[in-house]
Amino acid sequence: MSTPTAIPSLRCLSCGYDLAGLPESGHCPECGTPIARSLRGNLFRYASPGYVRTLRGGATLALVASLIYIFDWVPKIPLAMIFAALQIGSMSVLDAFFDIATLATMLFGWWMLSTPDPAFVGVDSARDWRVRLRVLLPFASAVILFNAVAGSVFRGVLSGTVTIGSGGAMMSFSYAEMLSWISRFVHAIVIYCGLRYIHVISMRFPSLKLRNASSNAYATLGMIITLLVLVVGCGIGGRFVGWLVAGAVFFAACAGIALIVWLFQYFGLLGRLRSELTRAIITAEAIAQAEHRLAAQVTEAIQPPPITQSGSEAS
Ligand SMILES: [Zn+2]
Repeated sequence: MSTPTAIPSLRCLSCGYDLAGLPESGHCPECGTPIARSLRGNLFRYASPGYVRTLRGGATLALVASLIYIFDWVPKIPLAMIFAALQIGSMSVLDAFFDIATLATMLFGWWMLSTPDPAFVGVDSARDWRVRLRVLLPFASAVILFNAVAGSVFRGVLSGTVTIGSGGAMMSFSYAEMLSWISRFVHAIVIYCGLRYIHVISMRFPSLKLRNASSNAYATLGMIITLLVLVVGCGIGGRFVGWLVAGAVFFAACAGIALIVWLFQYFGLLGRLRSELTRAIITAEAIAQAEHRLAAQVTEAIQPPPITQSGSEAS
């Protein structure tokens, strides 16, 4: 043990307390975590187990939200049959219910997953994508929620259509269709930001597999978004220039194939993220326990329990 050196600038990895000027061998005055622990950097295994558990909760909710989003027809079919048999409720209420449930789960999931680490040391490279994700979430929620309830509340207004072109080149779409496509588009952008964020935090495990899986997933999603923009562009253009319709069909087919590939990548990625977080939590807890034991031993060695001298307390 060398002489204790003062730390120039450092925050406690557990609670974020400023440890500047304190000795390396000491403990955080705020939460008692050994200062040495905060010197080891930002790997999740050295982070507060509570924080990593929040991230894992977020990853689980994001996974559940995506499952409801894709497989909501599984409970919907029997429920719709029950509704029809009992002559209560309606499909639009059921749709709105599932849309709102998906939205709430997605919102809480990504919000938890993008919780900033209170004890991050140095420059946080995940900050940019985390902030974009968090700025986008309330906005996306408003759009998706509006789309979910608008179908039943503003049916009259939304059944109106927009028409472009004239004669044979005429094309019309209803506001409701446009709204549901905007809602899907915004949903895709949120998930794109989330994938970029996972890409950056993968180095805190560190996991190259997770890093590659996330870059594949966001590249595919970026491609799908681009293809859909091309489909819309060619679809509108095709009303004026005939052959562009073939382009729209081709891009739509490509987007469909890419979507299937992406779904496998996405669920694989979230599953891997969860298992990596679980491993980080187990290690983080083991490290925290070992440190508590070590701290207890050190305290005992430095300050042995007072030996009662005969007469000192008795008198
Ligand atoms: Zn602390």
